Amino acid sequence: MDLAKFLCWAVLLLGISLVESRYMVYNTSHTMVPGKLNVHVVPHSHDDVGWLKTVDQYYVGSNNSIQVACVQNVLDSLVPALLADKNRKFIYVEQAFFQRWWREQSDEIKLIVKQLISSGQLELINGGMCMHDEAAPHYIDMIDQTTLGHRFIIREFNVTPRIGWQIDPFGHSAVQAYLLGAEVGFDSVFFGRIDYQDREKRFKEKSLEVIWRGSKSLGSSSQIFAGAFPKNYEPPPGGFYYEITDDSPVVQDDPDLFDYNVQERVNAFVAAALDQANITRTDHIMFTMGTDFRYQYAHTWFRQMDKLLHYVNLDGRINALYSTPSIYTDAKYAANEAWPLKTEDYFPYADRINAYWTGYFTSRPALKRYVRVMSAYYLAARQLEFFKGRSEKGPNTDSLADALAIAQHHDAVSGTSKQHVADDYAKRLAIGYVEAESVVATSLAHLTKVDNALTPTFQQANNLLSYTLAFLVSVFAAEHKLLPRKRNQLIRREKFGKQKAIIVLAYNSLGWKRVDIVRLPVVSGNIAVHDSEGHEVESQLIPFTDEYAALRNYHVEAYLGHTPTQAPKYWLVFSVSVPPLGFTTYTISTAKKTGGYSSKSYVSRYPKGEQSVIDIGHGHMKLSFSTDQGTAISYFNSRTSMTEPLTQTFSYYSSYNGSNDKEPQNSGAYVFRPNGTFPIKPEGQVPLTVVRGPLVDEVHQRINPWISQVTRVYKGKEHVEVEFIVGNIPIKDGVGKEVVTQISSSLKSNKTFYTDSSGRDYIKRVRDYRSDWKLQVNQPVAGNYYPINHGIYLQDSKKEFSVMVDRAIGGSSIVDGQVELMLHRRLLLDDSRGVAEALNETVCVQDKCTGLTIQGKYYYRIDPYGEGAKWRRTFGQEIYSPLLLAFAQQDDGKPLSFGAASFSGIDSSYSLPDNVALLTLQELDDGNVLLRLAHLYEVGEDKELSGVASVELKKLFPGKKIAKVTEMSLSANQERSAMEKKRLVWKVEGEGTDGEVKKAKRGKEIDPRKLEMELYPMEIRTVLIRLEHSPSHFHKYRFDA
Ligand SMILES: [Zn+2]
Repeated sequence: MDLAKFLCWAVLLLGISLVESRYMVYNTSHTMVPGKLNVHVVPHSHDDVGWLKTVDQYYVGSNNSIQVACVQNVLDSLVPALLADKNRKFIYVEQAFFQRWWREQSDEIKLIVKQLISSGQLELINGGMCMHDEAAPHYIDMIDQTTLGHRFIIREFNVTPRIGWQIDPFGHSAVQAYLLGAEVGFDSVFFGRIDYQDREKRFKEKSLEVIWRGSKSLGSSSQIFAGAFPKNYEPPPGGFYYEITDDSPVVQDDPDLFDYNVQERVNAFVAAALDQANITRTDHIMFTMGTDFRYQYAHTWFRQMDKLLHYVNLDGRINALYSTPSIYTDAKYAANEAWPLKTEDYFPYADRINAYWTGYFTSRPALKRYVRVMSAYYLAARQLEFFKGRSEKGPNTDSLADALAIAQHHDAVSGTSKQHVADDYAKRLAIGYVEAESVVATSLAHLTKVDNALTPTFQQANNLLSYTLAFLVSVFAAEHKLLPRKRNQLIRREKFGKQKAIIVLAYNSLGWKRVDIVRLPVVSGNIAVHDSEGHEVESQLIPFTDEYAALRNYHVEAYLGHTPTQAPKYWLVFSVSVPPLGFTTYTISTAKKTGGYSSKSYVSRYPKGEQSVIDIGHGHMKLSFSTDQGTAISYFNSRTSMTEPLTQTFSYYSSYNGSNDKEPQNSGAYVFRPNGTFPIKPEGQVPLTVVRGPLVDEVHQRINPWISQVTRVYKGKEHVEVEFIVGNIPIKDGVGKEVVTQISSSLKSNKTFYTDSSGRDYIKRVRDYRSDWKLQVNQPVAGNYYPINHGIYLQDSKKEFSVMVDRAIGGSSIVDGQVELMLHRRLLLDDSRGVAEALNETVCVQDKCTGLTIQGKYYYRIDPYGEGAKWRRTFGQEIYSPLLLAFAQQDDGKPLSFGAASFSGIDSSYSLPDNVALLTLQELDDGNVLLRLAHLYEVGEDKELSGVASVELKKLFPGKKIAKVTEMSLSANQERSAMEKKRLVWKVEGEGTDGEVKKAKRGKEIDPRKLEMELYPMEIRTVLIRLEHSPSHFHKYRFDA
């Protein structure tokens, strides 16, 4: 070869090598290195199950003018990105999206995804249908929505999620830690949002990561490792966002191109890691690499993270690895540290000064109530579905389950979505309800043994009743637009009761016998009620209030597009007695044919200014009202000798407008920022009306043109029921308003009050105080608000004053002796937390819109000190699970033509102990029966009822043989014993090894011969039961015709 030729070849070779040598293999295979700072790089996407767009819009990627977000892209692009490098990892959280996607995949992709999951590259964590909110959901809903997701995951992938991932909810509930954490078998829970003052202190003490013991009663037996992120759930500071549209600097490592920046990017990564290490214990820190709806083109993220891992590890100062929260948790555990102890909860949450996220405790009160009503309905419908036998093809309760699950999302029931998304949640619930209603109707037809040829089957008329229930009607719009047939049915049903007798069936989903009051709207004042044996039942007619009638008319017009043809004139009230998990039936007919009359109430009116005192109540408990203002009430119970002067008032907080501030912070859907309190004085000349009768006494008050209320005392009950109507809240003055009611007592409550955690354990609250840090008070009202799902109470050395609620709301005790509930909010400004809409709910007739009017109830009672829990717990269950009513018509005077007029689904001699509630009785799709029982009391809450309870499982399934009982985790995705075996035993600072800590008592293993289930305070036990059906098990139920 001559020189020229050689040079030519050399140049050519050089040229080729210049082109080809740019291929880089990035080393991403690093695992943990002892003694070095290990950065766990955790790729994730936070996919809200509805927020600015609906859940379906987020999934398919429509409505992108609002937000460029498509979850389908995330999951589609994830598969090849993970396949490209076996070291890459990803966690996926929201099952509502994952299951939508899964259904659409080919068998090939499904196989690949199964392999990715079993290898640990893709980890499903949290595992519920959504990342539920922790303030507004009831614990039963949290359990149900988690179970739905977990059961799918175990069925499809045979894995059990290990990690709680509540990164976005706005504060964290104790129930989340112990029930939806430890009791579902999670090893840890991570979250992003804790109070800014709390966070500061935890930085200093390196106590962002703790052992969280959420329940006083269950203590260390139900604790969990809990980690609050240093800032939020986004990548660390320094520019590490890699979506196509993100503008963080990418790692440019080609020296032939401009802007080579490897060292600069490595330095930024190392700096962020060292900063985080300064506030974190052990040699392990986590980088949450992702945020809302990221990884729509997953490759863009992994390309950059591959490079970062490669160069950071070459640099050698720290060790970075692809990881998951599971790997991170195991590393924390292996470090064998003792961790700080955290008890109680992380409420309320403020992200900075003057920004308490306590408004959303009440935001969208109608949706909150709708969710609660559907929750209870779902519980009852599943029982009835079980009695009849589940139909896989449908109708069944699955779509209601799905809708309810999605409604627990932290922008759904929380009230922090856009209006069109809130409508979507309501629509889903309405659709689910319609299907569940037909399950209920079929089951009741079956259980009542109706002769279909002769008698129309029972129909549920919750829709009928919803005419009169503002909260329901206000969210039913979507359903009527969607289902015109349903609408016709509603109109038809409105004429219910003209010539026919109505049979009312009352179903009780509680495990105890129940005596309760039924209230129905009727058009005639000439009515008699009979029980199934033909005995007349005492009943009372109460005139409709003008406010109520006006509200009903307005909503009929708004949602059905016509004026009501027939206006109910009265509430018919009668007392019913219903066996546990059973029903009784009553007939309502026109009195002239049957003899006997419903008592008309005695009505008296007291004009404004007239000074007198009136008494209501005709049992142990009485209330006295001063008639001039109607605000001073004297409570007296002769049985307990409790006397208490009360004052009940309304006021509103004007919502802060921060538009002109240097650091603007308005009151909005999330944030409650009051700007002054304004008492609402009774206005006008409308007299106070007192209605008396044999079953109930009522005081009707019209406070002003947009607030009215009815205070009730029922015969035989020792609590006060208050039903309020609030709205249309006026905004002509350009100021948002947050309406509260205050009930003041003389109790020396010493800044202390108690509120429930997600409807379960009560937590002590002290005004202007936090047990975890020295509180700097900047919002003396908003900073003392807490979520209430069940109730709130005060106590002093002699008395307890308890208030129970009918939905999730916010409340506090701002003044000693006083309970304050925020009933409604109407706001004109956004609070800059992303929703970008003012919370101004309206109802429109044609083009004229007015502020949403809501209606609701709360209940109160005064007990001797130490005796209030019994009412709170027992009555709390009754509030949660109202009687389910169903109706049938028959010609007046004709005898009843169905076979069974009453029924109990459990042994006729049996009822659940007073301290035990049935949370779930459900036939699963695999034929197993899912049963959950809950002890209702905390340790020391009641002298007797805080004791151990025992349930005879055989008695719950009369006529059936229990073939097998398997105790499961709370979400029923693994055997409890397997879960306990895997449980990590954490060490707590200042405590000996776990064995030395006094363990909470728990019920002993269920003996398969005795089949008794023991429950200790606050224990919830979940079992799968296989029943052997006798060929005709049906007749074994107890029927009384
Ligand atoms: Zn979110």
